[in-house]
Order: sequence, then C-alpha cells, then structure tokens
Amino acid sequence: PEREVDALLSSISDGFVAVDNDWRFTHVNAAAERMWRVKASDLIGRTIFDALKVDPSNPFQPNYLESKRTGEPTAFSAYSTIFGIWLEVRGYPHPAGYTIFFRDVSEERRAHRALLESQRRLEALQRTNRRIFETTLDLILVVDRRGNIIQLSPSVWPLLGYRPEELIGRNAAEYLYPDDLERTRSEMRMARKGHLMRNFDSRYVHKDGRVVPFTWTGIWSEADQQHFFIGRDMTERNAQDERLRRAQRLEAIGQLTGGIAHDFNNLLTVVIGNLDLLQEQVAGDARAVDHAARALKAATRGAALTRQLLAFARRQALDARVLDVNERVAATMDLLHRTLGEEIEITTALDPELWPAVADPAQLESTIVNLAINARDAMPQGGRLMIETANRRIDEIYAARNFDAAPGDYVMLAVSDTGIGMTPEVQARVFEPFFTTKPTGKGTGLGLSMVYGFVRQLQGHVQIYSEVGHGTSVRLYLPRARTAAEPVTAETSAPAMPRARSGERILAVEDNPDVRRIVTAQLADLGYDVIEAANGEAAIGLLSRGEAVDLLFTDVVMPGGMSGYDLAQAARTLRPGLKVLLTSGFPKTPGGDRRPPAGSDNLLIKPYRKADLATRIRATLDG
Ligand code: ADP
Ligand code: MG
Repeated sequence: PEREVDALLSSISDGFVAVDNDWRFTHVNAAAERMWRVKASDLIGRTIFDALKVDPSNPFQPNYLESKRTGEPTAFSAYSTIFGIWLEVRGYPHPAGYTIFFRDVSEERRAHRALLESQRRLEALQRTNRRIFETTLDLILVVDRRGNIIQLSPSVWPLLGYRPEELIGRNAAEYLYPDDLERTRSEMRMARKGHLMRNFDSRYVHKDGRVVPFTWTGIWSEADQQHFFIGRDMTERNAQDERLRRAQRLEAIGQLTGGIAHDFNNLLTVVIGNLDLLQEQVAGDARAVDHAARALKAATRGAALTRQLLAFARRQALDARVLDVNERVAATMDLLHRTLGEEIEITTALDPELWPAVADPAQLESTIVNLAINARDAMPQGGRLMIETANRRIDEIYAARNFDAAPGDYVMLAVSDTGIGMTPEVQARVFEPFFTTKPTGKGTGLGLSMVYGFVRQLQGHVQIYSEVGHGTSVRLYLPRARTAAEPVTAETSAPAMPRARSGERILAVEDNPDVRRIVTAQLADLGYDVIEAANGEAAIGLLSRGEAVDLLFTDVVMPGGMSGYDLAQAARTLRPGLKVLLTSGFPKTPGGDRRPPAGSDNLLIKPYRKADLATRIRATLDG
C-alpha cells in the first residue's frame, strides 16, 4: 500500500512533502522535485530548515512551527526566494509529523496582477472620460435606438437650460426643433446600418424657447445598442457668419450707392449752377424767380440727400481733425435740450481723461443729434437719454468677433436711451440706407446709415446694444489720436458773394463738359477771366505756353491718369506759388485715410452753391 500511496502522490500536480516530528523529509513527490528543481534523494533525511534554508523572514518557517504547535492546519501564499516562484501552501500537522502541499501560483499571480493593472488603467481612463464628460462645453448625448436619452453631459444646462436629470429617460425628439426631426432620424438609421456617421446639423429648443443650432458627430455602438453623439453649439459661429454677411451686404450697398451718388453729384452741380445763373438773369420777373427758387430748393434737397448717401458710402468729404469728443458733446447740448423737449431727461457721463480722437467736428455733432433724435423717437412717453464718453481698448478677441473692428485704442461715445428698443431683426438692418420702421414722412432711414459710414470712414467701429422694451445704446468707437486736440472754431456765417478784383484770371480744369460749362459761367459771372481745360495734360499745356493764371481750379478725379492732386503738383513746379483750389465729390482722402488733411490745398465739395464757390475762390486768392 505504501507504494500505491507513493505512486498516487507522485501523480498529483500539487507539490507534496512530508516530514517527521524532527522536520526531516520522509516524502518528496515528483511535482515538488520539479518545482524546487531538486532530487528527492538529496532531501530525504535532512531537516526542511537545513535542506531548504527556509528564509526565517518569509512566512514558511514560522507558519509551520506555529501550525505544529497549535495542531491547526495552515494555509498561506508566499514568495520563495530560493525557488523564485510564488507558492500557495497548505500545511497539516499530525502526530507522526507534518505534511505540506504546495502549488506554484506565479503564473496566476502574474495574470491577476495584469488584470489589476488593466483595471486600474481602465478606471483612470474612465475618470478622464468622466472629467471630459463633466467639463466639456460640447454636448455629449447617449441615446438608445429609439432616441431615448440614456446619458447626457452636464453641459446641457448652459446649452439648453435643462439639468441632465430632467432629460434622462425622455426622448430626444421632444427637444429637437421639429423641422430637424426627420433628418436626425435618417442619420441615426444610417448609422445603425453601419454607415459611418457624417457630421450633420440639427437644432434643439432651449428651455427658454430659443433655438440652438448644433453640429453633430456620432457613432452607433452595436454592442451597447446605443448612439453616442457629440454636438457643438454653433450659435456664436453662425452669429459671426451672419455679422460677416451683413457687413459684406453693407459694403456692396455702399459701393452701389456711392457710385450712383457720385454721378448725381455731377448732375446736381450742373442743375444748381444753371439755376443760380438763371435766377440772376430773370431778376425782376417775379414768377420766373419763384420757379427758379423752387427748382433750386428741390435741387438743394437732392444735393443734401446725395451727401447723406455719400456719407453712408464712406465717400463723404471729411474734415478729419484731432478733437476733444467731450467738447463736441458739450457743443450739442443746447440743441439737444431744445430738440428733445421736457419729457426727456438728458444725462452725461464724460470721462475727463478722455483721449483726443480723430473725427470731423461738424459730422460728429450731427451724428450725436441724429442718435438723440432716434432716441427721442423711441421714447414717445419720455425717458432718459445718456451720453457717455470713455477710453476703450479694442482687443484681439473683440476684433476677431467683430471683424470690422481693428484692435487698438478708441474713444467711445455712447448714446443710450430707455426707449422701446429694437428686435434682433430690426437691429440687423438699421445701417442699411432707407431702412426705417417709422411711418412715411417721419423717417428717412438714412440716420444710422450716415452714422455707420461716417464712423467706418474714420476707421472706427459702431456697436449697437438693444433690448426690446428696455432701451438702446449706440456706441461709436473713434480712433484715438496721438496728437493733442485742436480747438474747433465756430464757422462764420456765409458772407455776401465776394467777386473778382479786376483782371484776376482762373484756369478751370474739369473733365465733365456740362460741369465745366457751368463752372466757367459761374466764374465769369463773378467777374473772373476764365480759361478752361478738359484734363491735366491740357492744363499743363496752357501753363507751359505762358498763359497768365492767378488760380488753378481743378477737379480731383479725372480720367487719363492725371488727378487734380497730380496736376496741382505739376503746375506748382512750373509756377511756384500758384494758388490752387481743388474740387471733388469725394473726400479729400478717398478710402477714408485716417490722417488729418495735409492742410496745404483747399478742397471745395461738390455739389456747391455759387456763393460757396465765390467765397472759396476769394479765400484762396487772398490766402
Ligand atoms: P430713421 O430714424 O429715419 O428711421 P435711422 O437710420 O436713424 O432712420 O434708424 C433706422 C431704424 O432703426 C429706425 O426706424 C428704428 O427702427 C431703429 N432705431 C434707430 N435708433 C433707435 C433707437 N434709439 N431705439 C429704437 N430703435 C431705433
Ligand atoms: Mg433716425
């Protein structure tokens, strides 16, 4: 039987050793030989502690001794430094000695450790996912195949106004903008059929009723039977696109308007000029004088309208100077009090440290008045008008969002009211010429267009904040000037028409024959001796032939490559000290150059009245 036991013991896969009461080996089975890489014959008869030099710091020796002492079996795992393996040990005390079974569990432990490690990594990944999930500004949405919401990132609160708990368990379709339902469903169906999901747009409805546009990417997980979506709120992007479209639209309207207004200017110059002459010729015929006066009045109104359109088109002749905006506000106060009436309280908050700005003083004042009149119209029951000035820096971020604003220092002028406000739809269009919500005859729709053109021509920026029922704030950002403000002197009222002194001769250069004819006639009428030229080259020809000329009166924009500026320069080379008066329907610095005018040459803006012409010619000759 002992042999049978031996055979049995050597066949088991666990290691097995038996020792007597002196801890001497009596049995060592084959599995133990393999694991320990020893021969049984080398061990039999030696004590376990001697033969194996069991490390007393490991639990082997103390555990065996303790188990033998108490008579209780022991079971433990320990790393055997001798064999370099992990052993799971069970020891059984008995009267004849002690029996030990053991198993090599190194592989199991490695596998277990690997499992623990991968679990740890997975948990770390989940924590990261969790953090992303919790902090993302995008919307992460997990729904089942029917669209029932299973999971939702907390960003749903800022994005759609709901807490995730409010939505989990509900169907996403309840919150989708109805028009987008079909498209979203078909995208989901396609995803489930294994098609890679494309980016698609669908809108959700915010708790407050607002429609929020999203762009989505997503995947279908067959294993989880779930759709995972990530949605990006496109509100800001779309708004930016919209701002761009709007500005491009204004730009296009401006181009068109500017072109037409320019041609009209020339026509009106001819009309007004002829009417001026006619009026003098028919003096004495009361009816004819009356007709001419009416025609002149209408033509003058046309000219005013053309000027407004040119202002919108940023082609206004600007007398841009360095000025103190606070002073211009103060200068309008009297007029504002008179215009706005008792029902409207006017308050100002003017920054005493305000930087000087670049602007046209007269246009700036008329802008303030324009804005104040809009404010008055928005407050039929009365209210408050606030005029505020402050130094403002437009930073890169703001400039990027409002692409028509360049970063830099600006002087801000805000005109705010407590009126009816504007809807976003109205606000989107207020700068368009002829856009008005006022009844016919009351509004022209040109006020804000002019303001916009004026400020943009100065390379400033206009921003409108408005809330229906609360009020409106129009903020102008005028470029800060780097030099000190010049005092603005009050315009002297137009004097009587000054005439020529005997023998004064003017060279009039104008490409448009109708305009040339009327200018020549007007100048002759004022007593000047006039010679004319149709372009720069012809004028130079006359000058180099030695024609006597006291003053060169020339159009700025002429075909043929030589502008009025070029001509003035060339003429001065031939005749140093020659007096020059330029005329143009365009601003002195086309394109809205920010520099204040050089101040060297006088510029007369078309269309002009004969009296203006007379005054400016005289002033230039005498200047
Ligand atoms: P108009 O005053 O002739 O209508 P504007 O260009 O000055 O032309 O203004 C265009 C439109 O902008 C107005 O008809 C009005 O609808 C709106 N608007 C302008 N200013 C205000 C304001 N302060 N409050 C409310 N709406 C305004
Ligand atoms: Mg207006």
